[in-house]
Amino acid sequence: MHASRRQGRATGMGNEVRKSSQRDCDSSMREKGMRALVYTAPRQVVLEDWPRPVAAAGEVEIAIAAAGICGSDMSGFLGHSRRRIPPMVMGHELVGRRQDGRRVVANPLISCGRCTACLSGAQNLCANWRLLGMDRVQGCYAEFVAIPEGQLYDIPEEMSDAQAVMTEPLANIVHLFRIAAPQPFFRMGIVGGGTMGSMALLIALRLGVREVLVQDVSEVRLQVARRMGATLAVNVSSEEGCAEAQRFAGHGLDVVLDASGSTAARQSAFDLCRPGGLVVLLGMSKERSEVDFVTSIRKEHRVAMSFAYTPVDFERSLALLRAREIDLTPWTVEMPLEEGQHAFDHMADAPGDTLKMLLRVRQSHA
Ligand SMILES: [Zn+2]
Ligand SMILES: [Zn+2]
Repeated sequence: MHASRRQGRATGMGNEVRKSSQRDCDSSMREKGMRALVYTAPRQVVLEDWPRPVAAAGEVEIAIAAAGICGSDMSGFLGHSRRRIPPMVMGHELVGRRQDGRRVVANPLISCGRCTACLSGAQNLCANWRLLGMDRVQGCYAEFVAIPEGQLYDIPEEMSDAQAVMTEPLANIVHLFRIAAPQPFFRMGIVGGGTMGSMALLIALRLGVREVLVQDVSEVRLQVARRMGATLAVNVSSEEGCAEAQRFAGHGLDVVLDASGSTAARQSAFDLCRPGGLVVLLGMSKERSEVDFVTSIRKEHRVAMSFAYTPVDFERSLALLRAREIDLTPWTVEMPLEEGQHAFDHMADAPGDTLKMLLRVRQSHA
């Protein structure tokens, strides 16, 4: 029984295997259920009874307090992700409590620790990485999740759940700036003023960016960017807007980030970049895009792609949030797990100035 349970976990078969292997258990051994928000079909999430995870050796069970909705969970919800196939429990941004009472956040990107990438400190490029809430790994839109103890980071009681949940998304931005390594007095462009773009803006300002442009097609998001300190936040849904952004860029910006991933946004990042400058590609909405390579080759554009984060980035992200140097809580909305459908619909159809949606699973002090 126990062996088959472990095997289910190790092979990534997850809850399906565990469910069936539990059936013949005597009642004292019967697996307890828990509430979980289950992704059942595109654009549908349902609160259901789901098997409570069984912590394997080296794992710890976390009682989830709150979980964030990420862009990648949204793409799963909309049916665009090949690695989020219903029925499953999504979610990888979490804050909660261990059974011993310690309050924690978890790095949900689980790497093997043994491959060349892991050994060289690039755990984000691990040959065998797994993520909570992806493939068959149960995510955190549930009462409990089991995760290797080494993925956990203690946090102080005074840190809010809304701040703590940002550790994972902000780690992506810490990572990309470590790759981009901008030079002093750099000028930057950010294409896409969503959650990632906004955090990139805040980090750029802390790094001493001289001028920073944010472009988007949503007026509310541009207003947020202005409040956060963008030098220019411009709506590029019109010809005039595009021309204004290009005028601002002049001979081009030193570093341009695409935080959108649409074809137009990617091309726009190259268009704004100075000869010899760096384009950083982060957004993943389109798998393929056509880009004018010849123009970029003539400008000797350098291109960097940024994916996820390493444990070092995760720690730095947590430090920034603990120090309140980065704070997105004014643009964070919280809804109970029971209203998961409403929360996902809100983010899919009319996010407005909501940069992070938080699902409340249980009160933090519980
Ligand atoms: Zn995320
Ligand atoms: Zn590895």
